Amino acid sequence: MFYARIMEFKIVELEREPVEFNLELKPGAIDFGEEAEQVGELDTSGQAEVIHEHRGPREIVADIRLKGRFAGRFEVPCARCIEPVEIPLEAEFDLIFRPIGADVDPPERSITASETEIGYYQGDSLMLEDVLREQVLLSLPARTLCKPDCKGLCPRCGANRNTQPCSCEEGPKDPRWEALTGLRSRIKS
Ligand SMILES: [Zn+2]
Ligand SMILES: [Zn+2]
Repeated sequence: MFYARIMEFKIVELEREPVEFNLELKPGAIDFGEEAEQVGELDTSGQAEVIHEHRGPREIVADIRLKGRFAGRFEVPCARCIEPVEIPLEAEFDLIFRPIGADVDPPERSITASETEIGYYQGDSLMLEDVLREQVLLSLPARTLCKPDCKGLCPRCGANRNTQPCSCEEGPKDPRWEALTGLRSRIKS
């Protein structure tokens, strides 16, 4: 066993022996898109190995099993006011990756619950960063608030109501209604 220096698991190497990894990734090493921004180092460790799936006398599919964990801190937008909120994320994963195309047109495809854990790799290798990106995004809470009573953004003027009180809430009376009220009172009298 040895420690991978780059984040790519090649089938030919995994066929020889399982590969262990233990990395501290700097922010920017993986692009998490707009949903999350890494703050500080992202620690990850685990092991990759080949699992041969025998599908009959001739067909052997080389799956990659990736087991590991990650831990890091991320900034995600508050669900109400979109200000960045720093949250810790930590998770373990145990995943199977099949070569792309291995499941095209199988004789009888049985979809079981465990099937959902199966991913695919392209070509002859699996990139750790692709797996980590997906695992981090999957571990994000559905809804993060900067504070339980975040007042959010004003739907009318867009001001952050936590820091910028606006007068939209009561709302100034629409002058057209004032005109109507005036008209009505004139009709009545
Ligand atoms: Zn907020
Ligand atoms: Zn407003």
